[in-house]
This record gives sequence, structure tokens and C-alpha cells, in this order.
Amino acid sequence: MFSPLAFTQTLPFLPLAQGDISYEIERRNEPGLIAQLLQEPHTHVILVRNGLLAVPRDAQRSPHTRLATLPGSYVSAAVQALPIAAMYLGAYGKGEQAERVIALNLTGLEGLAQELKESQEAQYSVEAVTMLLRACAQLTWMDLRSFVPHASSREIGQATTALSLANWHDRQHYCPACGAPTVPAHAGWAQRCTNADDGRELFPRVEPAVITAIVDQDDRLLVQHNAAWSNPLLYSVSAGFVEAGENLEHAARREAFEETGIEIGEVKYLGSQPWPFPGSLMMAFKAVAKTTDIHVDNVETVAAEWVTREEYMRALVTGRMEPPVKAAIARVMIEQWLGHTVE
Ligand SMILES: [Zn+2]
Repeated sequence: MFSPLAFTQTLPFLPLAQGDISYEIERRNEPGLIAQLLQEPHTHVILVRNGLLAVPRDAQRSPHTRLATLPGSYVSAAVQALPIAAMYLGAYGKGEQAERVIALNLTGLEGLAQELKESQEAQYSVEAVTMLLRACAQLTWMDLRSFVPHASSREIGQATTALSLANWHDRQHYCPACGAPTVPAHAGWAQRCTNADDGRELFPRVEPAVITAIVDQDDRLLVQHNAAWSNPLLYSVSAGFVEAGENLEHAARREAFEETGIEIGEVKYLGSQPWPFPGSLMMAFKAVAKTTDIHVDNVETVAAEWVTREEYMRALVTGRMEPPVKAAIARVMIEQWLGHTVE
């Protein structure tokens, strides 16, 4: 039988996978790298805090959203004085003229300010934290999903990397082996245990998840609404985390069966993108269903149905369903199946 997957291509454009910065990994262990880069005239700094991005205050009214940037020299003293994670994202171009980007993670700044005041730390630390808090108050803090539709691919790349790292730093403060506090290492891409007898390096934890566009033999798409989604009109495709000891194809089959009772046969890889909420990597597949009787689990998934392209478009136009956000790989998967974008 002719497979509905025969003409399926890998996804050519994934919104969170368009970054074009050069990581310059070989520089990450240079002593004093962050301090040095912050003094260079072509370095600029972007800010993240509590999983959000800093954008200029007027940015939301503009059709093109951009990240707020500060000259490196502006925050150099504060970065030296305070225990905040500075992450070297990389360079555009080579040599001294290259534009370099550092992201600062300012989560916990208020707590730090309070601590410093109470402990009567050196005055320059208090001044540094006050300066950063003042800068924060001048900015708008935006979710990556809201940022993506109006931002450049280059800045989306910076934002995705900065949030992926910062979200990990926010969740991990102590060594899992000995319990000692950790500090950022490798220019913010890792952490090091501060216990001199241990000193191990820790690397970001990435949580693999599969997401599967399931079609039947008539090329209808299975769309579903999950209980955890706050928007009752949101319909998307099957997704879930990969279990320990499981491969991606097994995870795709298991999730589909658990959520909707559908058994899937042939599975084809479509592409992947990071999803820093807080630390997932979404790996997309397309699959052909072997069965079509839907039995939702009523725990994770509360509604599911097969739709033709016409039925899906009618559901969107009449407001019965809404598509996933533009940043989501699910949106691109649904648009690939449709054959056109959804506005
Ligand atoms: Zn340790």
C-alpha cells in the first residue's frame, strides 16, 4: 500500500533552531574570558531572568521585537563583584572585529540584594546589585514564545541558548554528589563543585521529548487536547518525554497509545529543536496509524479526533480549535501536513 509518509520531508525551518552564532568552544576555558570580553568594544550583553527575556520597554508596540542589549563595559564591574552567571554565547565573525554576545542570568537578584544588605558586604557589591536592579526595572520581561513571532532568527537563537543555560543554572545550585554549592564554569556552559575534595564538573541536563504527527491511510491528522493546557481551544499532536532506557521510536509509539489508544506503524524523523521550558529537546516524527479507534486516557489527553485538511481549517476559522504557538515545533509539523502556514 502507498505510504502517506512517502513524500514527507524533514522540516526545513524550525523557529528555535536557526541560531547562526559561532560558539568558539575553544575559548570557554580561557582564564578571565568573561572579564576580558566585557571590556571589548564589540561585546554586547543580553539579560535573562526567571525564564524571561529582557526587551526594550517600547518593543511590544513595535512590529519587530528585539532583545535589550547593554555594552559589556556597563556591567563589567557588577559581573566581577556579584555571584551571577555570565554565559558567553559566541561570536559573529572572527578576530577583534567580531561581535560577541554574553548573556547574564539575573534570576534571584532581589534576594541577592537583600542578602548583601544584611551581611554588610563591601559597598561596591551593594552598588552593583542596585545598578542591575535599576536596569531591570527599565526593561520589559518577555516569554520566549511571545518573542519569537516578531524577532529575528539571530536573536531567537541567542535567546534560546541563554534561556536553556539560565534555566538550568536556576534549577541547579548544589553538587548532586556531595551537596556543596556549585559555581558557573566553562564560560557559563557548565558548573563546578566548590568542594576542593570533589570539584567535579556538571553539565546542563537536557530532557528529550518526542512529538509525533500521526496520520491515517487517508492522510487525516490526529489532533488532541491535553488536560494540562490552559487554552481549552488548543489542539496539537501527540508528545511526551522519553523514558529511561527507551529509544525515540518506542517513546513515540508508547505516547500515542497511552494518550489516544492509537497504534502507530512506520515512523519517520522530521527534525528537532530545543524547547527551553525549562530544558527539553523536542524530536519530531511523522507516523502512520495502524488503527483509527480513539480512546483518550482522560488523564493526560481529554479529547482527540481525526481531521481532514478542510475540517481542520474550518475548526480554526470557526474558532473551535486554535493551533500551537508559532515557536512550537508542533505548529511547523501541522503546517507541513496542511501544505501552508496558518495565521
Ligand atoms: Zn561535589
